[in-house]
Order: sequence, then structure tokens, then C-alpha cells
Amino acid sequence: MPLGRCFSRRSWYIAWRQIGGDTRGVIHVEGVSFSYPGASGAAIRELSLDIERGSLFGLLGPNGSGKTTLISLITGLLRPDAGAIRIEGASPRRLALVPQDYAFYARMSVAENLDFFAGVCGLAGERRRERIAAVAAVAGLDAFMRTRAARLSGGLKRRLNLAIGLLNEPELLILDEPTVGIDPQSRHFILESIRRLNAAGTTVIYTSHYMEEVQSLCDVIGILDQGRLLACGRLERLLAGTGGTSLALGLAEPLDAAASASLENAYGLERAGSELRASQLGSGALVPLLASIERSGGRVARLRYGHADLEDLFLHLTGRELRD
Ligand code: ADP
Repeated sequence: MPLGRCFSRRSWYIAWRQIGGDTRGVIHVEGVSFSYPGASGAAIRELSLDIERGSLFGLLGPNGSGKTTLISLITGLLRPDAGAIRIEGASPRRLALVPQDYAFYARMSVAENLDFFAGVCGLAGERRRERIAAVAAVAGLDAFMRTRAARLSGGLKRRLNLAIGLLNEPELLILDEPTVGIDPQSRHFILESIRRLNAAGTTVIYTSHYMEEVQSLCDVIGILDQGRLLACGRLERLLAGTGGTSLALGLAEPLDAAASASLENAYGLERAGSELRASQLGSGALVPLLASIERSGGRVARLRYGHADLEDLFLHLTGRELRD
């Protein structure tokens, strides 16, 4: 079956692959830059990053921020123009990349795909059967083994992508936006599978532009924007840097300019798109603020108050919203 029928050019380019060899699960990215041929700007700019063994590392950034490019560089699909990437280790373990696009044969069944890729991994005999059964169970594909891949729902296709990536029991698993455009049930299933794999010792790099997902799933987070790593560290430490508590308030209609300016001054509010935000508003100021808005003729349509989240951090770092 010609590959071109089954894979888009990009998906084949970054298609699932595995690298045999030594990885202790520690990745060092040192001063890496990369530009696509003919592109006007760099996709990755002087980026340095360390990922520790056993971590569940979240690479968060808006579309086009360079997540796929960075993992293509880490997995050796692209070569840096400058800088170096080292994957350290002593044991002959493996790395797997589960790409964003579907990397399987649409005309083959789930079982045929798993068997084919198990062969590509060099699995044979009893071990091959064992691994196929194990990954089908992890990805919840048992009931679909005879179904043609083309006929699977979007969520099941993502689960097949994941299952293929797990065939060789990778020590380092890299997932590129594995939950884009899928139903909540498959999303939950995939996130839970990743949690369990990490708890069992697999180092995971998880890229996403869904900050809620990264916030709930990952213990260490790198925030990427325009090819640069803006911040990197444990979630609590990153959020502590934003000032702690945050307020985001949406009004049903904008206030007149004078009322708005006086509220902004009195409560240290800043406008962010259609919202008013404050990064350090004490809870005691909340009720007076809402009363002032009401007195000025305003009506609150949405209110979020509490610990700062990654959305606040992104805004703090870039002045833009992650969802832009
Ligand atoms: P993300 O994965 O965060 O959405 P990408 O790594 O895909 O971001 O893209 C980073 C930047 O590189 C974007 O500006 C994108 O347009 C550009 N880019 C990605 N792939 C190519 C390519 N094959 N050729 C030229 N530019 C590309």
C-alpha cells in the first residue's frame, strides 16, 4: 500500500517512529535555533530546556508557537541550525513519538495496524502477541480490533495512534496534541492512560494548547510562544510568580469611559480583551468592587476569582491571551 495514500505529507514526515538506543530519560536542549527553509522568521529561537527522567512534562503554547517543531528537533526528525540536543542514558530503552496527525494505515483494521507496527518494532512470537494485547487494552481498542481504521471515530483514531506508540514499551513517550478535536470520553481515556503510564515510570512530554489539560495533567510545564521558552518549571512555582490570586470579570455591556477609569484606578484593574482583570485583588475588595460596578450601571456577566492559572501566567508573560 503506497504510504502517500495513508499519510498526509506532514504526518508521514513526523510519523510515529522509534529510536532504539540509550536514553536515561534526560533530555538536554541547549541554545537550539531552527528556521524552516524559505521561512522569514525562526520557528525555534535560542531555546534551552532540561527534562528529567520520570517527569510528565507539559509543553504549552498557542498554535504556531513551535511545539511540533521542538519535538521534531528532540526526536531527530529535524536538525537544529544552532545549538545541541542530547538524550542521555545508559539502558537500551526507547523513545516513541505519537504525532498529531493519524499515523496508521486507514484501509487496514486495528489488529492489522498493530500487527504491522509491532513487526516494524522488531517484535515477534509470543512477545508480539503480548504487546498487541497490552496496548489494545491500554487504549481501550479491544472491541474494535476488526474494525477498519478508516471507520473509527476521531477519538478512537487518536487512541490507535497512542496504542501504536506504546507497542515497544517506550521509556520516553512524546505526544503531540493527542486530544485535538475528540469527544470528552476519549479525551478522558487518553489523559488517564497517560497518567497511568507516567505513574508506572514512563517519562512523558505532552504538547497541547489546552491550558486546562496541561494544568491538570503535568507536573512540570514549559510555556512556548513564538519559538521561545518563556517560562519553565513546576506548576506551583510558575503560578506563584504571577502574584497568587487573580480576578477576571466580564461585563454584559462596557461601562462609560469615566466610570470605567475610576474603577480601574480604585481597584487596580486592567483591561484584557473584553475582560477586566486584576492580579492581586484581596477577597475583601471583591464585594465593594461588585457594588461599585452596580452603582455605575454595569452588570457582571462572568466572574472568576481565585488562584492564578496558566491563562493568567501566559497573559502576565506575553500581554496576550493563550486562547487568542
Ligand atoms: P505548533 O506545533 O506550536 O502549532 P509549529 O511547530 O507547527 O507550531 O510551527 C511553528 C512555526 O513554524 C509556525 O510559524 C509555522 O507556521 C511554521 N512552520 C511549521 N511547519 C513549517 C514548514 N514545514 N515550513 C515552513 N514553516 C513551518
